Amino acid sequence: MNTVAAAGSGAPAPGSVLSGRTALVTGAGSGIGRACAVALAAAGAAVHAVDVDAASAHATALAVGGKAHVVDLADADAIASLPGDVDVLVNNAGFQHVAPLEAFPLERFERMQRVMVTAPLLLMQHCLPHMRRGGWGRIVNVSSVHGLRASANKAGYVAAKHALEGLSKVAAVEGAPHGVTSNCVNPGYVRTPLVERQLDDLAAAGPGREEALAHVLLDRTPVKRLLEPEEVAAAVVWLCGPGSGFVTGSSLTLDGGWTAN
Ligand code: NAD
Repeated sequence: MNTVAAAGSGAPAPGSVLSGRTALVTGAGSGIGRACAVALAAAGAAVHAVDVDAASAHATALAVGGKAHVVDLADADAIASLPGDVDVLVNNAGFQHVAPLEAFPLERFERMQRVMVTAPLLLMQHCLPHMRRGGWGRIVNVSSVHGLRASANKAGYVAAKHALEGLSKVAAVEGAPHGVTSNCVNPGYVRTPLVERQLDDLAAAGPGREEALAHVLLDRTPVKRLLEPEEVAAAVVWLCGPGSGFVTGSSLTLDGGWTAN
């Protein structure tokens, strides 16, 4: 066995670190996914921007000179229509639903698992043969601090992100002999529409927005600010770059110290 290829540390293509590579980003129409698409394109990758929202998928594709794919990732059959010849797979699409466990709607719970666990599995199955053939691949799963810790009223999300952590580790173990790494990034609260909606809900329920941000969302976070989507994207690009071939099966917290606290 070629140990260099097995470690996934082969020399990057000439030019930008990801030139000659193709990346597929799910949930690329907004927030973290859009920032990842922009950063991966800036690093030289050709980008497939996947989103259920047609307008935003096309807007991102236009911004990065990539290709838009309008797909509902809850639909397993639709995933088969996506390109499989990609070197970098960023499983990012997701959504939140807040409700007490006893009242958590089954339909929402099951949809969360389909979008945030089953779709990543199906996309790995879809893309791994190409990565293995090339002896190089990077899978980055956008998990969360909620892949490592629980919060009240987030049963569907916490269950899905913990499952994604396990799936990512299995992909790391199985991918290693083929030059394929798989990692999670674990952001705290990021300035995206997903968090803006939570802030709106919290503000409507009582305290003002600033109060809700400081005393609810950032209560456990020593660094008292929201994370920017571009900061998550920079970590994703690093995980796909030349210096991280030995980093696999890991969970990279970007949480301002939330999980340390
Ligand atoms: P966002 O709402 O800004 O973007 C999510 C995107 O995913 C949207 O464009 C949406 O249309 C797309 N999407 C949702 N369901 C889909 C489906 N069924 N099929 C295809 N696309 C779908 O959210 P974001 O904050 O950028 O979140 C992106 C990821 O980051 C999610 O997995 C989320 O759990 C994770 N995350 C977010 C935060 C945060 O604070 N914002 C923190 C940790 C982890």
